[in-house]
Amino acid sequence: MLVPTLTITIGHRDRVVQETSRSVIPVCGLKFLLLALVFLLLPGKSLHADDNLRIESLPGRVKQGDVCLIRTYSPVSPKSAYIEFQGERRLLAPGMQNGTYEGLIGIDLSTKPDTYEIKAIATDASGRGYSTPFFLKIGKGVFKTEKLSLPLSMVDLDAKTLERVNNEASRLTTLFQTYTDERFWKGAFIRPVEGKLSSTFGLDRIINGKRRSPHTGVDLESQAGTPVVASNAGKVVLVDDLFFSGKSVILDHGWGLYSMYLHLSEGQVKEGDRVERGDVLGRVGSTGRSTGPHLHWAIRMNQARVDPLSLLKVSEHLRE
Ligand SMILES: [Zn+2]
Repeated sequence: MLVPTLTITIGHRDRVVQETSRSVIPVCGLKFLLLALVFLLLPGKSLHADDNLRIESLPGRVKQGDVCLIRTYSPVSPKSAYIEFQGERRLLAPGMQNGTYEGLIGIDLSTKPDTYEIKAIATDASGRGYSTPFFLKIGKGVFKTEKLSLPLSMVDLDAKTLERVNNEASRLTTLFQTYTDERFWKGAFIRPVEGKLSSTFGLDRIINGKRRSPHTGVDLESQAGTPVVASNAGKVVLVDDLFFSGKSVILDHGWGLYSMYLHLSEGQVKEGDRVERGDVLGRVGSTGRSTGPHLHWAIRMNQARVDPLSLLKVSEHLRE
C-alpha cells in the first residue's frame, strides 16, 4: 500500500504553500498540514523546493537485502548534501560530475515491501537549503530455503554457552549501532576472497528440522589458508573467537558501514589497525559453526543486513 505522502513546497519569495500529495488528505493529514504550515512560517532556516535538484537510484527498483546507490544532481554546486530515509539522515559524498552527490543505503532483509519516500537536501555556499522528494519502490526478495544437519552441540546450547552467545550477540549489536563520522571507504568494494558462492544471502535456514535465523551473509568456498582481504578501507574494530562465527575480523568503514569476515583459521590484524582495500586480514578456515573451509562475508549498513554481492555491484559506480 502506498502511504499517503504530503510534500510541502515553499516558493522562494512568496512562501506559497502548495500541497502535492497524490492521495486524499485524511483528517490527520490536514492536522499535519496545519502543523507543517506553522513550522514553516516560523523564523529560521527553511528549505526551498528545487525542481532542478534531481535524485536517481541504482538500481531503479530495489528489493529486500539490496544496497542502493542514491545520486543527486544539481545545476549549482552544493556545498553539502544528504538524504533522509526511514527517519534517518544519510550523508552523501561528492560524485564524479560537478554538482553530483552520491551515497549508499541498505535495505534490510526484513523491510516491508512498499514505496518509501527519500528526501534529498542540498545546501549551497550561502547556507541556503534545497529539498526534493523521491519515491523508492522496495520489492520482495527471493530467498531460498536451505536444510542443514549440524552436531547437536552446535544447535542445542547449554545455559553457559547460551549466555556466551547472547553476550556476543549484544556486543555485535552495540558495535553496529556505533556510527563513525569519518568515511574511510571510497569507491568500489571488492570480493575478499575468490571462490565459489556456496550459500547465498537471505537463505531461510532449517537446521536439524527447525527454522533458525536466516543467512545474513554470503559463503565463499575456498581452500583453508587462502588470504582474506579487506573489501575496502576501514578500521579493525573486532578480532576475536566467537562461538558461532569462530575467528572473526570486523571492519568499520565509517558512515555506519561494517564488513565481517568469519570462520577464519587466523586473524592477521589487531583491533585499532587501519587497513586499505586489498590488505590481508586473515586466512580462510572453518572455525566456529562451520561445516568446511569457507569465508562467511557479511555487510551491515546502518544496521541493515544487506547482500554483500549487491554492494559489489552498485559500488562499481561510485567515485574512486
Ligand atoms: Zn555463512
